[in-house]
Amino acid sequence: MMRLLRPILSLVLVLVTTLLVSCSSPTQAKIPTVYTPEKIAQLQPYREPIALARKNMATLKEFIDAENWVNIRTFIHGPLGGLRQEIASTSNKLLKKDQPVAENLGKELFKHFEIIDVAAKDRNASLVKEQYNEAIKDFDAYLNLIPTA
Ligand code: ZN
Repeated sequence: MMRLLRPILSLVLVLVTTLLVSCSSPTQAKIPTVYTPEKIAQLQPYREPIALARKNMATLKEFIDAENWVNIRTFIHGPLGGLRQEIASTSNKLLKKDQPVAENLGKELFKHFEIIDVAAKDRNASLVKEQYNEAIKDFDAYLNLIPTA
């Protein structure tokens, strides 16, 4: 009886091993396409300063509505100054598939800030307002790329 059972057992073992290998190795090698809870938790300290900067855009809006050109330009060079670095390091932490989208939105956002800066210097209220609205759209799209818990 044992003589017959042994080859069967080893065959079963081979089958099980093959099945485990074929099931586990492709997923291990694959680039993650979803955010794990651990990854989401890791991203929160990166998201915080960016979300705060988005909140502070209300202050910029007040300066724009008041046509306070000096304060508009000071705001763009001051409080928004550190944002470029924060966005760059956050984009690197996102899923591979989201990184080009994030990088592009970051570039767009700062292009709008640069135009606001020049338009404020020229006291061009309509261009400043238009570019502010464009900046908000890109800012929100960027924040939407960072998952929250
Ligand atoms: Zn844009």
